[in-house]
Amino acid sequence: MGHAGGNAARRRKPAGLTVRVARTPAGRQTRRPHPGEDKYMRAAIFREPGRPLEVGAIEDPTPQAGELILKVEACGICGSDLHISDNHDGSGGMPPLKPDSVMGHEFCGEIVAIGPGTETTLKEGDRVASLPTIGCGTCDKCLTGDVKRCRTARGIGLGDVPGGYADYVRVGARESLRLPGHFGKGDGALIEPLAVGLRAAVRARLQPGESVLIIGAGPVGLATAIWCRHFGARHVVVSDLNPNRAEMAAKYGATDAIDASKENVIERYKTIAGGRPEVVFDCVGVKGSMQLAIDYAAFDAKVVVVGVCMHLDHILPVKPVTKELDLIFAYCYLRQEFGLCIDMLDQGRIEAAGLITDRVGFDGFSEAFEALKTPNTQVKVLLEPDR
Ligand SMILES: [Zn+2]
Ligand SMILES: [Zn+2]
Repeated sequence: MGHAGGNAARRRKPAGLTVRVARTPAGRQTRRPHPGEDKYMRAAIFREPGRPLEVGAIEDPTPQAGELILKVEACGICGSDLHISDNHDGSGGMPPLKPDSVMGHEFCGEIVAIGPGTETTLKEGDRVASLPTIGCGTCDKCLTGDVKRCRTARGIGLGDVPGGYADYVRVGARESLRLPGHFGKGDGALIEPLAVGLRAAVRARLQPGESVLIIGAGPVGLATAIWCRHFGARHVVVSDLNPNRAEMAAKYGATDAIDASKENVIERYKTIAGGRPEVVFDCVGVKGSMQLAIDYAAFDAKVVVVGVCMHLDHILPVKPVTKELDLIFAYCYLRQEFGLCIDMLDQGRIEAAGLITDRVGFDGFSEAFEALKTPNTQVKVLLEPDR
């Protein structure tokens, strides 16, 4: 960011804010720009599907009315970013990302500029976490916190507005929530994945005392476990094919973990909980995982699909019909759910910092991103631009 201070003097970019990708002299890319130095910042740029992200320079973002610029403190790598970076066509139900986009939708940072005419109680210097969506702020969806359903919603890090894999990111002021001062570095980047887990538990209409099975101990599975425990589930059992991840689950929220590479999941579950699960979360989202969730579920159970499968998948309907299952889908939180995650962390009523298993700077970021596409023991890896 060229000018990390006042905003009034900031150049206005044409509406639509296209990010022009600038080629800069070799060596420039990995150096940290200093305020006032130039009008470029570093970002991990998506060029084309299947090609590793490229750390390069793009123009600084400029805030419009209702927007803020954050100096990115940390941005988490999300499983969906990994998928999107390899998404060649729309056959999986999601359009391919435009070349030269910047991903990253799980971030926190410090406010360094406020768009002209923005009404907000936030100030420059505040640390915030922002929803990765900018809404109009006036429609019924925005007013009820369901920003993703706003008709003019623009996603951050998902193709509309450049995301948090950058030194600076442009966000909505209304969609930004102040973080408590005691939050450790990068903790604010966990709010987004925690909110996905909260959404899953809310969509499940989880009742105290229910027995839960969570398939998949990735960040979403673990976040779901944290909330199921918080809401009083009797058993919160997480299964994963990766023994390390299963072990991680036992530390965060889960009451028991099943190593699905060695154990028969449902037999082991029955030993732990005395019966089949009343709520099953599919936090994997691959071909066949929904059917597995259905197979494991008790009669009259709820099956909640949280993992995003981008392939045609099929289920055998006789099973959910004869079991009379409730099949539920969960996707994206409300603004107030985002806020609840901050408050519960603030009060120490949930604990999540241990989900961060690695932190990288721009040097090595692209490699770290690619490494997550092969089997690994990471849970949440953060980009910290000033690292
Ligand atoms: Zn995500
Ligand atoms: Zn709206």
